[in-house]
Amino acid sequence: MRLSRYFMPILKENPKEAEIVSHRLMLRTGMIRQQSQGIYSWLPLGKRVLDKVNAIIREEQNRAGAIELSMPTLQSAELWQESGRYEDYGKEMLRIRDRQDRPMLYGPTNEEMITDIFRSSVKSYKSLPLNLYHIQLKFRDEIRPRFGTMRSREFLMKDAYSFDLTQADAIHSYNKMFVAYLRTFDRLGLRAIPMRADTGPIGGNHSHEFIILADTGESEVYCHKSFVDFDIPSADTDFDSVDGLQSVFDKWTSVYAATSEMHDEAAFDAIGENDRLSARGIEVGHIFYFGTKYSEPMGAKVQGPDGKEHLVHMGSYGIGPTRLVPAIIEASHDENGIIWPASVAPFDAVVINMKPGDEACDTTCDRLYVALQNAGKDVLYDDTDDRAGTKFATADLIGVPVQVIAGPRAVAAGEVELKDRKTGARETLTIEAAINKLTA
Ligand code: ATP
Ligand code: MG
Repeated sequence: MRLSRYFMPILKENPKEAEIVSHRLMLRTGMIRQQSQGIYSWLPLGKRVLDKVNAIIREEQNRAGAIELSMPTLQSAELWQESGRYEDYGKEMLRIRDRQDRPMLYGPTNEEMITDIFRSSVKSYKSLPLNLYHIQLKFRDEIRPRFGTMRSREFLMKDAYSFDLTQADAIHSYNKMFVAYLRTFDRLGLRAIPMRADTGPIGGNHSHEFIILADTGESEVYCHKSFVDFDIPSADTDFDSVDGLQSVFDKWTSVYAATSEMHDEAAFDAIGENDRLSARGIEVGHIFYFGTKYSEPMGAKVQGPDGKEHLVHMGSYGIGPTRLVPAIIEASHDENGIIWPASVAPFDAVVINMKPGDEACDTTCDRLYVALQNAGKDVLYDDTDDRAGTKFATADLIGVPVQVIAGPRAVAAGEVELKDRKTGARETLTIEAAINKLTA
């Protein structure tokens, strides 16, 4: 992408309305724009990051055996009347009437709809286990939308729903998502800690919130420090191994970790002073097993091996991609801007032409740009007439992992400079060597 032809509306000043660093940086870099309270557009730079986050979530859901579908944002109130949640949900639910005056709503979550899809076509235990997910916009009319897309009213959620014949099977499905979540957050460059959670209005008894520690987090959390060293399950994890997954779950739940709602002062105090951590955290994911809470009122049954009808055991598993993007920034930035983990960076590298119009600089930059693109890299090419200082500041601000700087003097010697955004380390390489390094 040539910067001169791109749409990346950088703000020079810090926006006054932004209270936390991620919100400030997302506005300054032109990643998002607020359209009305708690409702955002994702501009091209932000969209690139969001798409990469979604791609990682999708890969790990698929690896764990979940199957993607797509459900609508607008739902009929009837389904929610069946489960009893139409009345219970309160003001967070945006209720709408269509032209026939039928009550509709903008979905805050999809348990009812997925249960309806399930009951309409699954009749036998032989079709189980089943886990269906989508990545779709949700709407919750939050009392206090704030911090940009961290807590917005319209937001993206990956929500998966598992269906099993028995509680034991459902716990295995739960563990699959537990492991998928550990892998997902790790690939996003985050250390997320699963914490015992309250089951809230959805109900049930097996529930964990995945929390990123951050000073700006909205939750108060308490945990053992040893989480920092726990191993992340590898890509070749056997998701069909009941014992294998259970042992990962057991390990990751073997030490204390709870949000304030579930906090047990005595258990926490029992941890040695040097090993305990009380901090603030951001909830980026939430999984729960809730048994027959929906299958019962909605009549989602399958025929079991005994020939009898059984209510299915369900769980649901959410991740907030539009919250994860600011959470990643909270975890990875410095005074000059964002420092993207390579896995979600909007571009892999930015080629900075220090003197556009200079034939040698132009030729060198074109060559780098083409070579990197041909190697499948996402490259931003700063071919603008901005001053050098502005170009460097922009490259630092948007946090692309590698900057390739092509100035007239270096280029005359057949060289370019590489700068690592995270460490600030610089090295001068021949153009050839730079291409080799960046395409390796
Ligand atoms: P919170 O406690 O932060 O209000 P929640 O417990 O209501 O969230 P869930 O119903 O568990 O949220 O939704 C699953 C995931 O969706 C959350 O873990 C979070 O990542 C994301 N999410 C929920 N609400 C919002 C929101 N208002 N803005 C952005 N992401 C959200
Ligand atoms: Mg939650």
